[in-house]
Amino acid sequence: MIAVAVLTLACYSSGSLSHVWCVGANILLLTQAFRRKFIIPDFEEFASNIDQLYYITQRQEGGYVADYIPQLAKFSPDLWGVSLCTVDGQRHSVGDTKIPFCLQSCVKPLEYAIAVHEVGTEHVHRYVGKEPSGLKFNQLSLDEEDKPHNPMVNAGAIVISSLLKVSKAERFDYVMEYLKKIAGNEYVGFSNATFQSEKETGDRNFAIGYYLKEKKCFPENADMIAALDFYFQLCSIEVTCDSGSVMAATLANGGICPITGERVLSAEAVRNTLSLMHSCGMYDFSGQFAFHVGLPAKSGVSGAVLLVVPNVMGVLCWSPPLDRVGNSVRGIHFCQELVSLFNFHNYDNLRHFAKKLDPRRQSLDDRNKSVVNLMFAAYSGDVSALRRFALSAMDMGEKDYDSRTALHVASAEGHVEAVIFLTETCKVNPHVKDRWGNTPLDDASQFGRDRVISVLTEYQRMYPKQSGFQSDSEDQRKLDTVKLG
Ligand code: GLU
Repeated sequence: MIAVAVLTLACYSSGSLSHVWCVGANILLLTQAFRRKFIIPDFEEFASNIDQLYYITQRQEGGYVADYIPQLAKFSPDLWGVSLCTVDGQRHSVGDTKIPFCLQSCVKPLEYAIAVHEVGTEHVHRYVGKEPSGLKFNQLSLDEEDKPHNPMVNAGAIVISSLLKVSKAERFDYVMEYLKKIAGNEYVGFSNATFQSEKETGDRNFAIGYYLKEKKCFPENADMIAALDFYFQLCSIEVTCDSGSVMAATLANGGICPITGERVLSAEAVRNTLSLMHSCGMYDFSGQFAFHVGLPAKSGVSGAVLLVVPNVMGVLCWSPPLDRVGNSVRGIHFCQELVSLFNFHNYDNLRHFAKKLDPRRQSLDDRNKSVVNLMFAAYSGDVSALRRFALSAMDMGEKDYDSRTALHVASAEGHVEAVIFLTETCKVNPHVKDRWGNTPLDDASQFGRDRVISVLTEYQRMYPKQSGFQSDSEDQRKLDTVKLG
């Protein structure tokens, strides 16, 4: 039945039977949707909250668009887009989310993640530290061991661009391939004009390069000028909010792209990356960002903020006007608004802090409604409704106000088919007592439901009190065995 329903859903949404093939590819997504098993169950509500935050943030007018190269200066200060992608591939976009812009420093965490994935944590950190620098991102400075402070400052990113074990000629294509996979094959481009401009105006980065060379920060035989060139190329890689949000979601999802299901980065590479984004990702605002927002993020001079809510979603905010330290004014504001509304701050208490919304939870209201509907289906002996609840991952052993289960109700009413479904298929515990101390068998006896009595007696004989029943376990996966016919 679910297969048919899912098929119908897909045909309906695509408007054509010729699109039936897409069901196969999306069967996981569709099944999850049908069962409301997404990380954010009420996605529509969540998306409308995001839209509100977007419009509140749009009013923020301060800041200046970076103008050290014409390719950045050309952007209107009014541009503003937010895209998000959850770890199970739900998407939402609002504003200017289809316009390409350069990643600039947002490429640094991605470059670092690829390097760790390819050559390992130990090797990368032989050359680069893990400590916030407390200095500007393009400072000519090293830590006590004469290493760049971390991979999120220019010196660190320049050294890392010499660590990949691919030839100079192949390096760029190699990383582009990686980035495309991280973005689920969505838009990843390259602005040659930006690359040329970065090079022409990159005196500070050349100075950093020579300083790194003098201090022997590169591996032996590394070509410093080639590393710098590669760094400028990386900064000039383009994404849109949409594709960038998939990149962030791959980081949120431990290195598996939620769109393609492909593991692109190791869990270790992603964990390292998120840790460093958390402590060093937002220029000289990193400490405050960690304090107020409590999420890993990286910003760039193009006005992009790559934000990760680990295990939930990736977000790409983009608006060109920058504040004094180089972060997007609207980007920062949006992140702050996001964690004021939702309990996404790393140190928000998920169990007792009721002031913020937790979009990961089904609301109590929804749960109560479901219990009423479940009882009603049992009361009227509606087996297909019961089957629908089971397929939507509901706990079929759920109790109402009087501690009565659907099995009590169906037994009292003498609905044999419903009783068989609740016991044999859903494995509801027949030993549960309601507030008057009665089991479903007591109810069936009281109302003289002979056929139900024999079904329940047999079921209780097969499953004595200590057996594991569905309602005794939080693990809804048992329902995967529900018969679909
Ligand atoms: N291309 C810029 C630089 O290296 C990147 C700046 C940034 O986004 O932080 O100076």
